[in-house]
Amino acid sequence: MKLLVTFSRKKMREPIIARVVKETGVLVCIDRAQIDSAAGEVLIDVPDKEATYISERMRAMGAQVRILENAIIRDENECVDCGACISICPREVFTFDEEWKLQVSEERCVLCRRCVLACPHHALSQQE
Ligand code: SF4
Ligand code: SF4
Repeated sequence: MKLLVTFSRKKMREPIIARVVKETGVLVCIDRAQIDSAAGEVLIDVPDKEATYISERMRAMGAQVRILENAIIRDENECVDCGACISICPREVFTFDEEWKLQVSEERCVLCRRCVLACPHHALSQQE
C-alpha cells in the first residue's frame, strides 16, 4: 500500500525512513522522493498489513502520513480506451488486454500525475 509522507525538515532532523525501517524491521520501498532544505514529500510502498503500523510510527516522529487506498482512479464511464495514458506513464501502469480494453496495475503507480493531465476524457484522478 502507498503512503504519502510529508515532513518539515526544521522539525525533523532524523532520517525518518531509515529510522522506521530499523525500528520496525518492515522493508519500505521508496517510489518517489522530493526533499529540499525546508520540507520533504516521500511516496513509499509498504506491505498492506503493515500500513497502519508504519503510519502511526511516522506520525509519532512528527510526519504527516496519508494512506492511499487507491493510487490512481479510473472512471470507467468516462474512459474510451484511447491509450493516451499508456504512452505517457513512466511506470507502465496501463496496458491493453487482448480486446484492447485498458488494464490498470495501480500498484506500480508513483503518483506523478502525468496521466491525469494527459487523459483527454478526464477519466483519471488521484485519491484526495
Ligand atoms: S487516456 Fe483516459 S480515456 Fe484514454 S485510455 Fe487512458 S484513461 Fe481511458
Ligand atoms: S500518476 Fe504517473 S505513475 Fe501513476 S499511473 Fe499516472 S502516469 Fe503512471
